[in-house]
Amino acid sequence: MDRTALITGITGQDGGYLAKLLLGKGYRVFGLMERSTRYAFANLDYLGITADVDYLDGDMTDEASLIQAIRQSRPDEIYNLAAQSFVGTSWRQPILSTEVNAVGVLRLLEAVRHFAPTARFYQASTSEMFGNSHEDGLQTEETPFHPRSPYAIAKLYAYWIVNNYKESYGLFCANGILFNHESPIRGKEFVTRKITDAVARIKLGMLARIGLGNLDSERDWGFAGDYVDAMWRMLQRDQPANYIVSTGETHSIRDFLRVAFAHAGVADWEKRVYIDPAHKRPAELHSLRGKSDKARRELGWEPRVGFEELVRMMVDADLERVGREKGAQ
Ligand code: NAP
Repeated sequence: MDRTALITGITGQDGGYLAKLLLGKGYRVFGLMERSTRYAFANLDYLGITADVDYLDGDMTDEASLIQAIRQSRPDEIYNLAAQSFVGTSWRQPILSTEVNAVGVLRLLEAVRHFAPTARFYQASTSEMFGNSHEDGLQTEETPFHPRSPYAIAKLYAYWIVNNYKESYGLFCANGILFNHESPIRGKEFVTRKITDAVARIKLGMLARIGLGNLDSERDWGFAGDYVDAMWRMLQRDQPANYIVSTGETHSIRDFLRVAFAHAGVADWEKRVYIDPAHKRPAELHSLRGKSDKARRELGWEPRVGFEELVRMMVDADLERVGREKGAQ
């Protein structure tokens, strides 16, 4: 295969898994990277692909860098995964979140329109756009949006501007409305990884307890490695469309804790967890559960890794990582 892809957010969780998938299919992969003083390749190192990606400097807040990245990479496919992706931070930095997650997408679309109008464009939309809106406990492509955080509102702008550029200029644009997806390289600020990292530290005697917010929140959690495959499939269609990507199963944070602690062999998990009011959000989402029938039917996609397997995979990876860290001390 002789195709080229540009991935924004290459250093993030999905950027890594998607790059690995595309490299495996023979793509040349360019990754847009913010200038960073930290070492930014931890996820790509974990996946063993750091040397296989071509890196381009760029930032979603800097139009000139986006134009340059597109002109340099001349992509057939563009996957816009870059975002200030943590909902909690979006209340503390609402303007930055909007600059990156909303206006940044418009900047990128303008660059695509002028410099790569035949490229296919994927936008990382999110189930957070639904807020608490549902139909019989499920979210579908038709469920009305009611975003409840600056993050989700910025993402909803992006969703609509992507639709608008498809309709106005005939660009091939697809929104993937992805429900939560996790992996061993999920950022540690996210509750799932925060839990598996803490479980490993508790198991290895390096931490006594973990403070969390609402244990009754329910999410539809899938594996990031499965979800990036749906992204790719969306851009292989004859016509662009928007798709929900989800498992259709929902679990509470309490369920996640139970499976994670049990897998590590730590008894009485309730004694290891306390409720920390600092984690309470100004507006909460109670339950998300996506109906991904359209993706399953039209893309031939389905999730492979189930909830318990996902939790166990994350706990195992953190036990290994934290064990190494402890050994080096
Ligand atoms: P992630 O791990 O937080 O990755 C986000 C990426 O965006 C990182 O590479 C980050 O770079 C980059 N980035 C942030 N600000 C940028 C800027 N101003 N310019 C250029 N790059 C910037 O997120 P993820 O879990 O992989 O998610 C990928 C995308 O899917 C995001 O848009 C997210 O909002 C969306 N999404 C995720 C989920 C989920 O459950 N994971 C669900 C629905 C939608 P640094 O590392 O240098 O900050």
